[in-house]
Order: sequence, then structure tokens, then C-alpha cells
Amino acid sequence: MNELGKPPSSVLGPSLIWRNWVSNQVSRVGHFAMPSTDEEACALVEIAARNGLTVRVVGTGHSYTPIVATDGVLVSAERLTGIEAIDAERGHVTLRGGTRICDVGPALRAAGWALPNQGDIDLQTISGAISTGTHGSGDNIQCLAGPIVGMRFAGSDGQILEVSDEKDPETLHAAKVSVGMFGIILSVTMKLVPAFDLHDKIWRADFDECLDELDGLCRQNRSVRVFWCPTEHSASLFSLPDTLGLGRTRNVSDVCEMRTLNVTTASADTVAGKRGELIGPSYRIFPGSIPMPNHNECEYSVPYEDGPDVFRAIRKLVQTKHPDQIFPVEYRTVAADDIWMSPYYQRKTAMVSVAGGAGEDYWNFIHDCEAIFAEVGGRPHWGKLHTLGRERIAEIYPRYQDFVARRRQFDPEGRFLNAYLRERFS
Ligand SMILES: Cc1cc2nc3c(=O)[nH]c(=O)nc-3n(C[C@H](O)[C@H](O)[C@H](O)COP(=O)(O)OP(=O)(O)OC[C@H]3O[C@@H](n4cnc5c(N)ncnc54)[C@H](O)[C@@H]3O)c2cc1C
Repeated sequence: MNELGKPPSSVLGPSLIWRNWVSNQVSRVGHFAMPSTDEEACALVEIAARNGLTVRVVGTGHSYTPIVATDGVLVSAERLTGIEAIDAERGHVTLRGGTRICDVGPALRAAGWALPNQGDIDLQTISGAISTGTHGSGDNIQCLAGPIVGMRFAGSDGQILEVSDEKDPETLHAAKVSVGMFGIILSVTMKLVPAFDLHDKIWRADFDECLDELDGLCRQNRSVRVFWCPTEHSASLFSLPDTLGLGRTRNVSDVCEMRTLNVTTASADTVAGKRGELIGPSYRIFPGSIPMPNHNECEYSVPYEDGPDVFRAIRKLVQTKHPDQIFPVEYRTVAADDIWMSPYYQRKTAMVSVAGGAGEDYWNFIHDCEAIFAEVGGRPHWGKLHTLGRERIAEIYPRYQDFVARRRQFDPEGRFLNAYLRERFS
């Protein structure tokens, strides 16, 4: 019994089986709770602590790694949603932690603002996305956590913890990408940009043609995304749009599906009826029009200059040793930042991602890809499959020790750790 005179289960919620989006992570949760207010979230942490239980938070479960699973209390951020405030003078928005990215675009647009960047999908929560270093693409565009200037947490003592760029930039650099280890994120305040439209252009290129042009394309366009498709069937595994006949090549396999996004003031009519081109509000164009089907994914950050060679090496690996791996290989770029556990920490980056079928074991392929990533100091995306343990993480993340020290300071009892995170960050 807790001091409210009720058994913990009635306050902390029922037990249940939780699964992530792709169902590769399954966990028997001790208590499942859906707080609606900051006070309820803080009370949950306090009661969990009294009962010796750990606490994890789930956004929309779009991560592939065991970073949500817990047998303690699983807090869903589903009711901690909405725009708290737009500060037009500073160009800032404060979003409640569980707000999905797809739910903010129209309201921000109506107020004359936009998020600077988004990823391939917009179904994630803002807290889930920033916590794993989720990114879009663009040489000069940081990951989604980059523009954050403040965060509010339910901390390990059940009290509100506020971290801001103005008062404590160091802690904010630790907290932005912290995989749920600093507490329940109640709100995130971030810099906006004035609302803008994007011109979306897709076409097909042979691999060598793509690689010859890649650096120039990345420098000249706001955002470049490439999917190398080893076979004729690869594109359909990600529901990529049909680009046959767009671009110089007429090949159907070993081709790259190319996409550029650029800011435009032209009206959508200027590309109406033009195959492969689209103009629209940024929030609608970023995620594309087709939801990505269920799949597994491993993605690493490598130094920008090494990106093309790594891309070539992965293609060779598929063609020589793993011809059964036919999912598209994705290539994007991300600007450097100062976030301690960010894969892009002080390093302009190329992101290379290798996917596999949902439910399929493709670890042998991932191991071989990791050997290629390791040669150039590759750092994993925290939400995507990888095999790295504490030692290697400490080697490749220059601020790892600082991060662990700050985590311990804010959560000395490890209230917000699960077994996977304890092994790597306790
Ligand atoms: C189809 C698909 C497409 C994707 N596209 C991209 C892409 O384009 N770019 C990219 O970089 N990544 C991409 N990802 C990865 C995805 O963006 C990340 O895994 C992201 O973390 C998922 O957000 P979520 O809301 O589902 O969070 P979850 O997976 O539920 O949680 C992620 C982490 O955040 C923590 N967390 C969530 N909410 C809170 C909170 N309120 N307080 C404290 N901690 C919290 C969780 O505990 C967990 O550690 C994609 C994933 C899928 C499945």
C-alpha cells in the first residue's frame, strides 16, 4: 500500500504486454500509466520510487532498440499532448512531450511558423524523436533536437526539473538526446523558422552517376535523400514512388531513387502535372505521401567525407556476400551539433541505413555493415538496431563520461534506467 491508502496497481495502472511498432521488442510491463498533467506525471514517479519500481516512457514505439522496455512502470505520453505556447517575439514553440510531429504542422503554419526539419515519417512524438537524435536530411540542418532551447521534466525525485539554454546550456546539451534517462519529458521549447513551402523532386540514377554527383547535390540542395535499390523489387519494400523514366537511366535494378527538397515561393500550379515534382507546405512535403511499411532498421552516422566510400562499401557487401538483402539502403546528411550523445556531435555527418524485413533475422548482415561503419568511427542511431556496448560507446562519443556523470546527478538511483540502458549508462 502507498500512503494514499491504495494498492500501487490502482495508482500506477494495470500490468500488460507492450510491443513496439515493428514488434521486435516485447515487454511484460508491471504497471501501465497515462498521466494527463505534469502533477500526475510527477506523482507517478514519486509513487514508483516509494514502491522501488523503475519508470520508462513510451512515445509511439517507433524505436527498434530495447530503450522503452521495462517490468516497472511504463508511462505513455499519449495524453501529454498539444501546443502549450507560441512565442512570436522569439520564434519559439513549447510543445507538450507526447505531441506527435504530424499534429503540429498545420497549427504552426496557421501562426506563420514551421519546424526547421522533419524525418521520413511524422508519426513520432516530439520527445521520442529528440531523445534518440532523430534527423531528416541536409548538410546545414541539425537533427530535430538541435533547435531545442528548453525542456521540462518530471525528475527522479518526483519534482519538476527545468533545463534551459539560458540558465544551464551544458545540462541542456546532455538532456536533449538522453534516451529517456533524465525523466519524463513534459515539454520541449524549440526555435521555429518562418513558414515555408518545399519543392520536392524525385528521379532515378545509376549508382555511379549518383555517387559522381552526390557531394555537389548535397551542397546545392537544402535536403538530399537517396535510396539505393539493389533489385527491381527493392523500392516496393519501402513503397517508394515510381521513378521509371525519370532521369537518364532506364535500368530497374542497382539504381538510386533520388530526392531533393528546396525552399520555394513558387505556387504548386507551376509543377502541376509534372511527374516527379511537387510543391506544398513543408510539414506536408517532408514525410512524403506514402507510409513506410513495417521493417527493421540499423543506421549509423559516419563522417561526411567518408559517406560516399561507406555507401560504396555497403553496396559491394550486398552484391558479393548478402545478395538476399534487398531492402533499399538509405543515405542522408546531417549538420554537426554540440549535443553530448548526438551521433552528429561536432561532426558533419552522412547517415547510412540498412533495413531488413519485419520478423526476419538479418543480424549477420548488420554485423558486416557495422565492421564497415567502425572503420570510420561510425556512431549508431539510438533508436535503430546496433550491437554496441558500453566500451565502444565510450570510445566513439567524446562526451560519454560527462553524460554518465550528469545522468547520475539527476537520477542517482537509476529510476529511469532499464536493464539495457543500465548496462551502458549506469
Ligand atoms: C517507419 C520509421 C521511420 C523512421 N524514420 C526516421 C527518420 O527519418 N529519421 C530518424 O532519425 N529516425 C527515424 N526513425 C526512428 C524514430 O524516429 C525514433 O526511433 C524515435 O525515437 C521514435 O519516436 P517515438 O515517439 O516512437 O519514441 P519511442 O520509440 O516510443 O521512444 C524513444 C525513446 O524516447 C523516450 N521517450 C519517449 N517519450 C518520452 C518522454 N515524454 N519523456 C522521456 N522519454 C521519452 C523513450 O523512453 C525511448 O527511450 C524511424 C522509425 C520508423 C519505425
